Amino acid sequence: MREVLSYCLGGALLLKRSSSVSASLGLARLTSAAVCPCAAQCILFCTVVKNCCVTSIDQSGAKVTVKVKDGREFTGDRIISTIPFTVLQDVKVTPAWSSRKKSMFEQMEWDKTVKVIVQTKSPAWLSQGVHGWPMAGSDHAWERVVDITGNEPGGYGNVFFYLNGTNAERLLARPRETRAQEIVDLFEKDMPGLFDEVVTVQDFAWSEQPWIRASFGAPPWVEPG
Ligand SMILES: Cc1cc2nc3c(=O)[nH]c(=O)nc-3n(C[C@H](O)[C@H](O)[C@H](O)COP(=O)(O)OP(=O)(O)OC[C@H]3O[C@@H](n4cnc5c(N)ncnc54)[C@H](O)[C@@H]3O)c2cc1C
Repeated sequence: MREVLSYCLGGALLLKRSSSVSASLGLARLTSAAVCPCAAQCILFCTVVKNCCVTSIDQSGAKVTVKVKDGREFTGDRIISTIPFTVLQDVKVTPAWSSRKKSMFEQMEWDKTVKVIVQTKSPAWLSQGVHGWPMAGSDHAWERVVDITGNEPGGYGNVFFYLNGTNAERLLARPRETRAQEIVDLFEKDMPGLFDEVVTVQDFAWSEQPWIRASFGAPPWVEPG
């Protein structure tokens, strides 16, 4: 019997027990489950343990030991971690990461995407033939707006503004209570008549989420030559 640990589904710990005949088969199955936590394999072969905030990973012995915030410990033959690099740096790892892995974690460049989500009394833009992904874009701070009205009951219209780079950073520097409304106000100035009555406005900032602290990550750009 082999045991492999992985993490997925909002901080849940995935425990895989496999009587696979070979280690490579066991690992291949686990990799697929880790990449797609909802895969049938995951449900068939794994136990998902919820509310497991990993605080340390010890790989110094024959087995891997993972400790979580509430004091529980889990052991396995192997570990596959999908914890984002932004958070992984707070997890105590023994033995320490190699210097190359450490510098990869540190040098990764992360964006701070913000979505401003708006509900209107009706999707007035659709009746004017304006739709799409995005339905409008700009070099102003509202950047681009996407229709997500779908088939929600009540006749409401729904959109989100998708802000990245300097636009996201500018919004994050504004007061939290008013920053989302400021984007709506800018948009309505540029595109009057597309929104009828605004019902709700809120924002979601990836950099403010404790389990990721950023949105898109990429290695730093290196000048060729
Ligand atoms: C705004 C935005 C839009 C996107 N749009 C698309 C798209 O249209 N199409 C597309 O294919 N991709 C899209 N992506 C990318 C896609 O969402 C990611 O590539 C994907 O979610 C990454 O999966 P992951 O499992 O590596 O990380 P995550 O989904 O971030 O999962 C990591 C998990 O680790 C958990 N975790 C963190 N810390 C701990 C800890 N200490 N202990 C235990 N668990 C922990 C977290 O709770 C989380 O569940 C988008 C991403 C963003 C930010």
